[in-house]
Amino acid sequence: MKKNWLYFPVVAAFFMVSGCDQHNQSAGDSALVLEGRTMGTFWRISLAGVDESRKESLQKAAQQLLDSDDRELSTWKDDSVISRFNQYRGSEPQPISDNMADIVTMSLRIGQKTAGKMDITVGPLVNLWGFGPAKQPLATPSQAQIDAARALTGLQHLRVIQRSEGAYLQKDLPGLYVDLSTMGEGFATDHLARLMEKEGINNYLVSVGGAVLTRGKNAEDKPWKVAIQKPTDKENAVQAVVDLQGHGISTSGSYRNYYELDGKRISHIIDPTTGRPIQHKLVSATVIATTALEADGWDTGLMVLGEEQAKALALRENLAVYLIEKQGDGFSSWMSPQFKAFILPQQE
Ligand code: FAD
Repeated sequence: MKKNWLYFPVVAAFFMVSGCDQHNQSAGDSALVLEGRTMGTFWRISLAGVDESRKESLQKAAQQLLDSDDRELSTWKDDSVISRFNQYRGSEPQPISDNMADIVTMSLRIGQKTAGKMDITVGPLVNLWGFGPAKQPLATPSQAQIDAARALTGLQHLRVIQRSEGAYLQKDLPGLYVDLSTMGEGFATDHLARLMEKEGINNYLVSVGGAVLTRGKNAEDKPWKVAIQKPTDKENAVQAVVDLQGHGISTSGSYRNYYELDGKRISHIIDPTTGRPIQHKLVSATVIATTALEADGWDTGLMVLGEEQAKALALRENLAVYLIEKQGDGFSSWMSPQFKAFILPQQE
């Protein structure tokens, strides 16, 4: 399998943070940059107006927070909270944190709005196709294998219960396997933003994998800029540049995280209805939303839906969406009216 996620931020995440983040640093500005690894990818924080003397303690606090999210949400760790839920074969409600309740609730909401195409119970299929902790298959999975994995999925089998003493997660299918990979980076990005707020920092750009959130201004007292990369697996060329205005952004794409099997390109985005990797012309979906968590959920759902249904849903739900489609040897793009409000002229 191509381990493309290793090359964030300039390859895997489809975003290049620009302006004060990378470009201005080389111009010698005073942005403070913290970075590290988490969740099989990279995290990065750029801060304006924060003294260098705080770097070490902020770096440590950010890494600790992300490590704790990883211990809760990772299906790559057998002893994480979500893995223990997946291993549990009963149907009694299991206590979960408010964070986990928020993620699952948002996932169920977007799942319902996308007619089940964004489905966090798709884990058995993700693993069957080799995009989870399980190894990449040596041959295309058989229809019987796909059917068996599909039988273990379905959002209707999962629910969040809110009680006065706390939140609980319940399943009514013993083999249900919840995979939060599509939501984890967005959640962690929002979590980093909350940490910055708690630290009294108001000018920041935070990112985990392909999710980004900004607030305030960069070190040049200008809006943070986030670039959406062109959909190729080699170039780092810019497709569009946005000013997030305090929002979160996330991109899901089918052209960077894939492998070739039996002469076919196998994408990591799985259509829960067919049980197979998506095949259509939509190569990336970028969403801007109030939180990075929400953006991270919608982008995957739109990717599964494909170009026509994704456009219709974006318009129906008033979502800020930027889609890139394959057109012959090149690409074409489409954006919803809500997305246009965030676009910056590229020469800026
Ligand atoms: P997104 O488009 O945001 O999500 C796609 C992913 O969601 C797929 O890879 C699949 O897992 C899942 N998915 C596929 N189809 C659907 C669907 N229809 N509905 C819902 N979900 C779907 N990777 C490692 O290699 N090693 C690690 O140790 C590791 N640890 C992780 C820990 C955590 C807590 C999380 C959240 C992820 C971890 N990952 C790890 C995964 C990795 O970092 C990325 O999250 C993953 O590769 C996909 O992220 P993306 O932004 O590229 O894709």
